[in-house]
Amino acid sequence: MKDHYEEIQNNKEQIKKLFLSRVKKGFRCWMWKGSVTNEDQGQIGLSFATIKAHRLSYMLYIGHLKPRQVLEQTCGNKLCVNPKHQKIIINKKILHRLAGPRDVLGQNNGRAKLRDKDIKKIRKLAAKKSYSEIAKKYDMSATQIAKIARMESWTHVPD
Ligand SMILES: [Zn+2]
Repeated sequence: MKDHYEEIQNNKEQIKKLFLSRVKKGFRCWMWKGSVTNEDQGQIGLSFATIKAHRLSYMLYIGHLKPRQVLEQTCGNKLCVNPKHQKIIINKKILHRLAGPRDVLGQNNGRAKLRDKDIKKIRKLAAKKSYSEIAKKYDMSATQIAKIARMESWTHVPD
């Protein structure tokens, strides 16, 4: 993911207009009405790149967002693009490390999304369902699920 902050700022008013034409503002949340990604996140095609709608919202109304910074909606609504509902959760490198084979932190880390009991559940599900199906359910990538199922990550949780 590239850093498009400069390009957005250079053409801010026009981009904001385009962005708002695909938003339905509710009492709390701003619902995205434009196209969505495979992960059900809003996206918008700009002349220089296709950008996730909630990330664009953050860069239009709040400020710079580094490519590795991940946003999460505090309202729990994945299609909400209200800039006030976007929170930087954790940088991607750490996220990757948490899910990676050398992860020894597990749930004691406090930042990990999954709990030990989820890991056990995922391993059970992996016997019946595809990794991508499980990934969808837990909002993770199929690779992360595969690592968990093959005991390459979260190795401190007994099978
Ligand atoms: Zn919201």
